Amino acid sequence: MNSADQLQRFSFDQTDIRGEITHLNASYRDVLKRHSYPTVIAVELGQLMAATALLSSNLKFAGRLTLQVRLPGNVSLLQAESSDKGELRAIARYDESVDAEQLSFEDGQLVITIEPEKGQKYQGITGIEGGNIAKAMEDYFEQSEQLASRFWLECDGQNAAGFMLQKMPAAETSDVDAWDRLTHLASTIKQQELLELNTDVLLHRLYHEEQIRVYEPKDLKFFCTCSKPRLATALTQLGYDELDTILKEAGKIEVSCEFCQQHYAFDRQQVEELFPQRHPH
Ligand SMILES: [Zn+2]
Repeated sequence: MNSADQLQRFSFDQTDIRGEITHLNASYRDVLKRHSYPTVIAVELGQLMAATALLSSNLKFAGRLTLQVRLPGNVSLLQAESSDKGELRAIARYDESVDAEQLSFEDGQLVITIEPEKGQKYQGITGIEGGNIAKAMEDYFEQSEQLASRFWLECDGQNAAGFMLQKMPAAETSDVDAWDRLTHLASTIKQQELLELNTDVLLHRLYHEEQIRVYEPKDLKFFCTCSKPRLATALTQLGYDELDTILKEAGKIEVSCEFCQQHYAFDRQQVEELFPQRHPH
């Protein structure tokens, strides 16, 4: 039984094909224990976290990658984020007054946002049907990057895992059958195998006849980037008058981070300091 939260990259010699496997155990459960999501939401969110972990290998700089599933129905948003340091967090928004059996994933959009700490933000959008994140990811890479990709995303409500194969742009290769062969082998993985087997065991089981190169794994963990200054910045968006009204009614402003439920309070003096232009010297 694997227990490490990791992202493992690998590639196949003499081909232009690379792959990744991720396992999310503690990091996934750290998200779940902060919320009481119905199983259907928790499972979908686990798959989205696994997809985010797989894509995070594209963060070659300090910054953040966010995957959002934006839907029109009673499940409106699923969001998962990864930093370049392998820090993950995730959240879901849905109509909590609806019975869990009624919750459904309407057709909507999958939005990929990459935000370097320095430099230009990138955003890509593709359609998503019936909550099928793996298919939407494949469509995205096909349309936006012209890269053939296959994604397998699994979650059982306790652990999440992802497997990706990607064909890099046209290096000359003598092994013309490699893509069909390697993706066919990958498609034989059962859900429990992907969730439970160590990466080494899984790769050996699938690809022991291939020349496979395995790289240094990257550790992943749950971490929330919220802080009092960040929430203060969000508060200022509400405007002084709105905050002033709350202060008059409640004496202080209390906010909880949506991702980690960390509680923050602001008294009148702290709110006044957020609007220095109101107090010219
Ligand atoms: Zn937080």
